[in-house]
Amino acid sequence: MIPAAPAPLHPAPTHAAPPRWQQLWRDAVRDPRELLSMLGLDAAGLGISEDAAAQFPLRVPRGFVARMRHGDRHDPLLRQVLPLDDEMRPMPGFTLDAVGDAAAKAGHGVIRKYRGRALLIATGSCAIHCRYCFRRHFPYAEETAAAAGWRDAVATIRNDTSIDEVILSGGDPWSLATPKLAELTDALAAVPHLRRLRVHTRLPVVLPERVDDALVQWLAALPWPVTVVLHANHAREFDADVDAALARLRGTGALLLNQAVLLRGVNDSVDALAALSERGHAAGVLPYYLHQLDRVQGAAHFEVPDETALRLHRELAARVSGYLVPKLVREVAGDPGKRPL
Ligand SMILES: *Cc1c(COP(=O)(O)O)cnc(C)c1O
Ligand code: SF4
Repeated sequence: MIPAAPAPLHPAPTHAAPPRWQQLWRDAVRDPRELLSMLGLDAAGLGISEDAAAQFPLRVPRGFVARMRHGDRHDPLLRQVLPLDDEMRPMPGFTLDAVGDAAAKAGHGVIRKYRGRALLIATGSCAIHCRYCFRRHFPYAEETAAAAGWRDAVATIRNDTSIDEVILSGGDPWSLATPKLAELTDALAAVPHLRRLRVHTRLPVVLPERVDDALVQWLAALPWPVTVVLHANHAREFDADVDAALARLRGTGALLLNQAVLLRGVNDSVDALAALSERGHAAGVLPYYLHQLDRVQGAAHFEVPDETALRLHRELAARVSGYLVPKLVREVAGDPGKRPL
């Protein structure tokens, strides 16, 4: 739209109020007791662990809590964020660096595990803390690409002409302020061998307010085709606010895909998987990957056996349209890509 008034000669003052999404971010629920009282649940018998919460704190945006079912201790959204005793039980085969990120690091916050693609650990922050996350033990503080002013990341990408895709990951890359993201993409715009930009983010689902005007304008102006890989594990993670955020993202021309993790007690039924694909599709999102859990310490209680995973995947394929069936994969340390089951 063309504004009636002339454009200001000077940029907006830098002391403007922080974007609303940052306030909502800070206002996230961090106390398990508060979360339970919001849901009308009694802690007794839930197996909540203070130790697990000390290791990886509870964090969940209030808008996401609002999508949980009141009074349901088995709510699939609640299960993804509640710190449990189960996490503290050591399990053979479940390790600290389950996907070999430590070995694949090529520069400051840059992972060269995938051919042609540079994965930037843009930041360690997330708006939500997912208990099954394989990055819960990753030493972000020293490893993020943004912390070094993007310099090492940009140099690594510029100096390797085999890289044609940059993947922003984390943590959640959209936890960075939009001007910080623009700093990176402005620098990358001068790299001639780049063809694609990809963003892996859970924010449009867990804090849809993040998709504000500034983010949309930044995305729409990027010089490459953009793919946004969202992360939703259950159909009920979508609501009207998420739909609106995703519509805005699609309006920039971005391709929207979803990856989910197969999680016991969350989405380990063909009904749940079909509903997830169909609900995502209604919001303009196609399923991409269904991941077998990374065997990270503290996540064993979410694991679904391979035979069950394969059966669910077959049943899903028999029930929904072909394009609503994600690829069932597993991440194997040292492999150049996902391994199909
Ligand atoms: C698997 C993965 C990638 C790259 O693999 P693709 O097969 O190209 O999708 C990038 N980022 C994250 C977070 C991944 O899990
Ligand atoms: S990286 Fe993704 S899965 Fe892990 S805690 Fe952050 S949002 Fe959740």
